[in-house]
Amino acid sequence: MIHFVGAGPGAEDLITVRGAELLKRTDVIIYAGSLVNPALLGYGKPGCRIYNSAEMTLEEVIEVMQKAEEKGLDTVRLHTGDASLYGAIREQMDVLDELKIKYEDVPGVSSFSGAAAALNAEYTLPGVSQSVVITRMAGRTPVPDKESISSFAAHDCTMVIFLSTGLLEEVSAELIAGGYEADSPAAIVYKATWPEEKVVRCTVGTLAQAAKDNNITKTALILVGGFLGSPYERSKLYDPTFTTEFREASK
Ligand code: SAH
Repeated sequence: MIHFVGAGPGAEDLITVRGAELLKRTDVIIYAGSLVNPALLGYGKPGCRIYNSAEMTLEEVIEVMQKAEEKGLDTVRLHTGDASLYGAIREQMDVLDELKIKYEDVPGVSSFSGAAAALNAEYTLPGVSQSVVITRMAGRTPVPDKESISSFAAHDCTMVIFLSTGLLEEVSAELIAGGYEADSPAAIVYKATWPEEKVVRCTVGTLAQAAKDNNITKTALILVGGFLGSPYERSKLYDPTFTTEFREASK
């Protein structure tokens, strides 16, 4: 059987307990390159075969899975963060379906959660934003036109931008075209939860300069929105004058 496992954002102990247990019992690990903590690769059984998918095609990944399956071996396909985001798991699952190879998906802690923790931030601040847009700039992988950064920016909600650290001039221009002021708060979180993590607070207009000043060229998330600023409202949930299913409002 194939176990798709989210490795978490970086720190070794941010894999789930379930993911770690599966790793300890596995015969084959196919991991997603440099964004997976190498310490996790030591969890497999003695003699565990390890493959780096960064150097492989989809066909080669499937071939490894198929051969393991024929020998009755267990495979962990280790993806960074949570595999549901930019993980290219669907195309693997569809081929496995055709080959009638069983698989399961074990969620992981995405880097967007790791970045919020690094910032001590709440993405969904009352009175500021109750929505999070997870997106990326179009690069070599295109993004549908209707999902441009400027069109999302027009919502003035929380934005988490993946895979775009090399395109920050364009990200800034699109955010401003969509309605952000150049001095709106923004942040760059590099290698969230890794020992070399960097948190850089800047503005929408200074994203590219801030990345340059801190030598950040990849493995970072761009965070934008009022959640990085100061004004917000208290939650209703913990407001003494607000009745919930579990608590009567005080008079
Ligand atoms: N499935 C992953 C994302 C894979 S795409 C997840 O859930 O996090 C790879 C991109 O994710 C990187 O280019 C970067 O934008 C972001 N990323 C991955 N790990 C990161 C980390 N620890 N800190 C900041 N960004 C990270």
